[in-house]
Amino acid sequence: MRNQEMLLVPGPTPVVDEIYDALSSETMGHTDPRFAKIFKNSIELCKQMYNTDGEVFVIAGSGTLAMEMAIINTVAPGEKLLVVSHGYFGDRFIPLAKVFGIQVETLQAKWGQQISKQTVEEKLAEGGFKAVTVTHVDTSTGVMANVEELVPVVKKAGALFILDGVCASAAMEEDMQKTYGHPDYTIDVVLTGSQKAIGVPPGLGIVAFGPKALAAREAMPSVMGYYTDIKNWLPVMNEPVKYFATPPVNMIFAFNKGMELVMAEGLEKRYRRHYALGRAMRAGLTVYGMKPLAEEAVAAPTLSCIIYPEGLNDAEFRAKLASKGVIVAGALATLTGKAFRIGHMGNATEEMFVKALQIVGETLQEMGYPANIDAAINEFKGIYHSA
Ligand SMILES: *Cc1c(COP(=O)(O)O)cnc(C)c1O
Repeated sequence: MRNQEMLLVPGPTPVVDEIYDALSSETMGHTDPRFAKIFKNSIELCKQMYNTDGEVFVIAGSGTLAMEMAIINTVAPGEKLLVVSHGYFGDRFIPLAKVFGIQVETLQAKWGQQISKQTVEEKLAEGGFKAVTVTHVDTSTGVMANVEELVPVVKKAGALFILDGVCASAAMEEDMQKTYGHPDYTIDVVLTGSQKAIGVPPGLGIVAFGPKALAAREAMPSVMGYYTDIKNWLPVMNEPVKYFATPPVNMIFAFNKGMELVMAEGLEKRYRRHYALGRAMRAGLTVYGMKPLAEEAVAAPTLSCIIYPEGLNDAEFRAKLASKGVIVAGALATLTGKAFRIGHMGNATEEMFVKALQIVGETLQEMGYPANIDAAINEFKGIYHSA
């Protein structure tokens, strides 16, 4: 790998050489048929990943742009949106939707915990909700939502199910034609960014609309956006030689390569790998006397929020790690200084995570904390290869 550092923040994630190579291909005109073919292919691969019979939009921007596209194209000003939040990124939908005059109601979990299906069911019983947002993995807490349980509850209430997959897509199942107990109970919208579990540099927002979500857009004469109106993009996504606004040609080259790598690994295999990786990393770090915020049953395959041993200095710990080439993220809100976040998703290799565990152990020892490095690595390997 060309990378000099191990970028283990919860996105961007380490970029592999084939993707860098694609990114640095010669720039073409955005309506060049050779580019259009690659763009089209990347969209097709997204459709396969989400198994959707709807439409996928790949737009210059970030995950937040994809969130905005999901909301404004399904919920009109004055309509009701329920935000099911497991932390910082779930909460982001609140100001985002309010800007557009949407009536927002919120269910907020205690950090590190899940919102139960009963809570959502009771809230939806009040009636009138056009859509519900659920964050598949909240990147602030490392908690995953129980999609299996929430889809039927939301669909039964007649609302659209919008899934923020920014920290999950390509690492966890998000099958838009899977029925959850009834033929009509399916996920309506999934969105992500290029830089998390897909493993491409930041720069693209991706959003998939199923048939019911597309119908919701059709039912609105206009929406609160121009660049973000999916109707402006649909002709381009279907036939990329068409023009609406210039797509980021080189980012699409990189994204197409990233999606090819995802599909070449195979979705099932990739989901299993991430499941094993999450469990193994948490187990390894636990050997060092650290404690995952989320209980294992609700902990995400893609990233973990890890509470430090008593008294460990956060800034010093992360600076020391960075000087040895391991980049992790601080924790957010009330957990700031008490925990760190480590991403374990995308195209990073087992060797990389073993090395990271070793460097974490060495850093702890330097700071006067006991750390049995061999035991941590053995724990990691044992779980990674058996989970
Ligand atoms: C990173 C993230 C976002 C925001 O994505 P940006 O690309 O930073 O705009 C939204 N939701 C979740 C779950 C995320 O992890």
